[in-house]
Amino acid sequence: MAKKVLIIDDSITQLSSLKIFFKRADFEVETAQDGVDGFLKVYSTTPDLIISDVLMPHLGGFQLCRLLKSNPETKQIPIIMLTVLDKKLDKFWASQSGANRFIQKDSDFKNIIQIAEEIIKEFPVTQRYKDTLKTFEFDEEGIIPQINKILDDALMKSTITNEFRDLTDYTSDDKVIADKILKILSTIIEYEAACIYFHSPDRTAKKRLIFDTQNCTLKDGVFLDIWRQVLPDCLEDFEIETSSNNDGENLVESADEFQSRKEFDFYYENNLIGKVCFYSTQNVEWNKLKFMPTAKSELDLYLRLKYLYVKTCYLSITDELTKLYTRRHLDSVLTQEFERAKRYGTIISVAMADIDNFKKINDKFGHQAGDYVLREISKIFTDTLRKTDFVYRYGGEEICILMPETCIQNVIMPLERIRKNIENKTFIHNDQKIDVTISIGATTYSKDMRTPSDLIEKSDVALYKAKKSGKNKVVIENE
Ligand code: GH3
Ligand code: MG
Ligand code: MG
Repeated sequence: MAKKVLIIDDSITQLSSLKIFFKRADFEVETAQDGVDGFLKVYSTTPDLIISDVLMPHLGGFQLCRLLKSNPETKQIPIIMLTVLDKKLDKFWASQSGANRFIQKDSDFKNIIQIAEEIIKEFPVTQRYKDTLKTFEFDEEGIIPQINKILDDALMKSTITNEFRDLTDYTSDDKVIADKILKILSTIIEYEAACIYFHSPDRTAKKRLIFDTQNCTLKDGVFLDIWRQVLPDCLEDFEIETSSNNDGENLVESADEFQSRKEFDFYYENNLIGKVCFYSTQNVEWNKLKFMPTAKSELDLYLRLKYLYVKTCYLSITDELTKLYTRRHLDSVLTQEFERAKRYGTIISVAMADIDNFKKINDKFGHQAGDYVLREISKIFTDTLRKTDFVYRYGGEEICILMPETCIQNVIMPLERIRKNIENKTFIHNDQKIDVTISIGATTYSKDMRTPSDLIEKSDVALYKAKKSGKNKVVIENE
């Protein structure tokens, strides 16, 4: 059966010569003289191919092309644009228009026909598609709202994209980020409660679940129920933060009151890096929300960037072997805390720990075994101490602890616990049992100290005393 081509061009000469050539090549030919007429003829004639000029009155070729390609009813029909592209901007718009092919206007007709045949073969339009297209009725006035709708959608999409791209300025503050993300999403989704979780590659970071409620108040227990639904595997160690834009009108007493819920999970290298959940007491058809695919892919991109950013920061201050902070990081934090203590009278304690006879462990069991002991001991330190204490790998087998807001009386107990935990732990490497003990010296800030290194030196003195008096001890050096 002859294939039908719709040729749209405002030049009558161009139209008639193209028409003659296509007819000679056994095509059925329809013609239109401007974009609007062309658009209507697509529906009434259901062609296999559209060939369109760029510069035309009323509706130009690029706009016509975008209109047809962003419309599910017409987007399958292939389009060839006849262009005289010489400016960069023309080329850019041409590439954005979605046309299947561009042909220079001065190409010879044989060439145009050959390309037309190729394109028809490559993008066949089924009879069923044509039949459906025929059922739509369009008048000239219907086109303007259609064009406006497409333009509005394009503007909305680029606005969403821009808003998400702007988030990169705030990456270090999860609460601010969560608020900003929900602010964007709340323009697309009508929800009553939302909840966000960012998984951090920084082991030491606080785990937070951030809630936002709109036009409703959640009873205390509901937060907990939602939290259990969102992350059933990790119920401990979470901090809940809430922000609300509600007028407190609608009290939600149980999570069951939410009729519908939608979760979006975001992954990077098979790790869950973030979750965003929405709740509504109404039945919401989440999948029909118009701009959700755009928002979701932008959010996905942003969360990956955020994850990588935090990971890079974390790696630059983390020791590879022990996963403790590095000494370089200690220098900056110690200076800050020291200045705070000096200026505001806050308390800070420092401890220095050194594994006893570590050289012998290495010599007897090998370096690998030594590394294993170092890793295990580091874990004991971080597990025993509070989240607010900082643990650093100070040197080879020396560990330094910074305890802000902790007076010396409160230092002894945790340090003793660490010492005992290490003494009592059975270290086994390659089936060999290794006995390990540690010596610890500690001190606290006093007004006569002039520089941060005074704190380190004094805890070193305490450590020296612990070693001297028989090792496996905690010694406090005060005043
Ligand atoms: P003391 O009880 O007086 O502290 O004796 P010690 O043997 O622990 O002290 P010394 O400072 O003489 O030896 C420390 C050893 O720690 C020497 C070094 O080879 C080893 N070491 C340092 N860094 C590492 C590491 O990353 N892995 C391993 N396996 N050993 C390390
Ligand atoms: Mg040492
Ligand atoms: Mg040692």
